[in-house]
Amino acid sequence: MTQFMMESSVQPKPQVTNGMYRSSNAHGDHLELEKVRQELIYINTIGKRFVAAIDRFHVHRALLFALQELYSFSACCILLKENPVELFIIPCQPLSAAFFEDMLQRIVSAAHVIDFPSISVEQLISSAYFDAPDEVAQYRTPEAMECTEIGSVLNVPLIVENRIIGMLSLFDELVSTFDTEMLHFTTMIADYAAVALDNVRLRERENALWRQADFERQRLELVIRSMAEGLLITDAKGIVTSLNQSARQLFEQAHITLQDEFPFRINDLALTEEKTWLCRLAQIIDTALTDHVITNQELIVGEPGETVPLTLNVSASPLHNASGVTPQPIGVVAVINDVTSNKQIEKLKDEFVSIVSHELRTPLTTIKGYTQHLIRRIERRIRRRQVEIAPYASSPSDSPESQDLRSLYIVHSQSDHLERLVNELLDLSQVQNGQLALQYSTFHLADVLSETIHSVQMSSEQHTIYLDIQITDTLLKADRHRIAQVIGNILDNAVKYSPHGGQITVSLQRQAHEYLISITDQGVGIQPDQIDHIFERFYRVRNMNSRQYAGVGLGLYVAKAIIERHGGKIGVHAQQGTGTTFYFTLPCIPHTPAETEHEEIKHM
Ligand code: ATP
Ligand code: MG
Repeated sequence: MTQFMMESSVQPKPQVTNGMYRSSNAHGDHLELEKVRQELIYINTIGKRFVAAIDRFHVHRALLFALQELYSFSACCILLKENPVELFIIPCQPLSAAFFEDMLQRIVSAAHVIDFPSISVEQLISSAYFDAPDEVAQYRTPEAMECTEIGSVLNVPLIVENRIIGMLSLFDELVSTFDTEMLHFTTMIADYAAVALDNVRLRERENALWRQADFERQRLELVIRSMAEGLLITDAKGIVTSLNQSARQLFEQAHITLQDEFPFRINDLALTEEKTWLCRLAQIIDTALTDHVITNQELIVGEPGETVPLTLNVSASPLHNASGVTPQPIGVVAVINDVTSNKQIEKLKDEFVSIVSHELRTPLTTIKGYTQHLIRRIERRIRRRQVEIAPYASSPSDSPESQDLRSLYIVHSQSDHLERLVNELLDLSQVQNGQLALQYSTFHLADVLSETIHSVQMSSEQHTIYLDIQITDTLLKADRHRIAQVIGNILDNAVKYSPHGGQITVSLQRQAHEYLISITDQGVGIQPDQIDHIFERFYRVRNMNSRQYAGVGLGLYVAKAIIERHGGKIGVHAQQGTGTTFYFTLPCIPHTPAETEHEEIKHM
């Protein structure tokens, strides 16, 4: 593979030079053994220099050292097949512009011969570097500066593992500088230089990658440090390995100082500090370590007596290594936010809703009372007039009194609607404040179902409501009014969200120790991604038609609170466009044994 290109006539007779191992010295009367010994010393010396080279410039020096033992020449060039190509020019004496230009021209031609991608002189100029090490450059004569012509050239490919990585070119002003007898040494030096340059290139690439990785690491650390959210990272055993400044501040706010504790396990901290929220945080991390994502968990950090305790919101995700090979997480990353101010705003909002609904209730009761009174009076008057004037004629519907009566019916029905809304808001406040009062009594669930169905059926002619009771004994101890409210809320929805009418089926069954009540409609249904949210307060499914259904999104929230207070469960099966089934359970034996209970509970 090695190929030489000599551009001047080859001179078998060696020149006399100053080099230790130049041909003139090797030639002559020396013993063969001494020659071999000299060669070995030479090879050993240059080999060590190349091995010790830590960068390109050390390689250049080692190269010059080795070559100058063989020849005396004007310049040495290294063309590397990088992308783009790189040219290193190592002058041994000052070079004239003409010499320099000719050198580039010859490199381009030679590169073409030894399988280089085509390059131009312009390209070489733009990618050329000068490296003129003072300590090795030998200025032979001051006249050399005047020398403008190249006398001899030697090109040797630089080869590593059968791969041409570049080309070494030697130039001299004199003719026949490069001696064929020295060619095997030149090849050997070129091979050393090629390996050393290749190693340097690999090292440079490695260093660049390390620098890049280090830069990225520092940037990431900066991002984590500057984050407003608290960030906590654990290893695969749940040991906290990293905690940013915001997270430390949150721990400090919770009166937990970590300076001496780091690194630590949240579990251990929970034991020493005896704090419930730390136990919960430890649980969240343990769950994430089992490859589960946990989102938006609230941790109440403050003391129970505080009006708005310090509240943290935590989300945790398992960490997997970049290759994704290991199935088990290698740690957990948890983001912690202080949501106390949100809680304060929520509390203010709740207080406002509670006060406003209380204040609305009194005038509303008065309005309803007087409206009913007026309706009754006008109805009586119309009946009396009918009897006096024309007992067998129907009353004229356009009389002023009949018109007043119709207006009053509208006022009455709208006050009913307003009253339902105010009651829902009051229920919301009770649930929020943990003051949902239950009045336990014993009654038949079947009676409550049929009464509620009857009243809903009265107001909806478009729907047919069926009651399917599959058991004989439906005795239940619960808050009758509240259970009727739950059935009413679900039935109201079944009617409201089936705008084209249809069938609604209410069924009652018994499952082990509980009653199962389900209400199925043939209405608009619910999209699967909305199902998880419909029991949240004020949540309404947002779609194009949502405006056509009146409501505030509290009916199901209150229903859920009531059912759970009774020890039951509530849920839904639904599909978009094919109707909905709501179901809830109630324990046959009440979970609170008291005959009548009036208690306050704390809403969780
Ligand atoms: P209100 O507070 O007056 O009851 P609302 O009916 O909007 O208002 P919820 O009863 O809590 O509130 O219901 C929440 C949401 O669930 C509704 O807005 C509706 O989008 C959806 N939903 C409830 N029941 C049904 C149903 N039977 N079919 C389709 N969607 C329903
Ligand atoms: Mg509703």
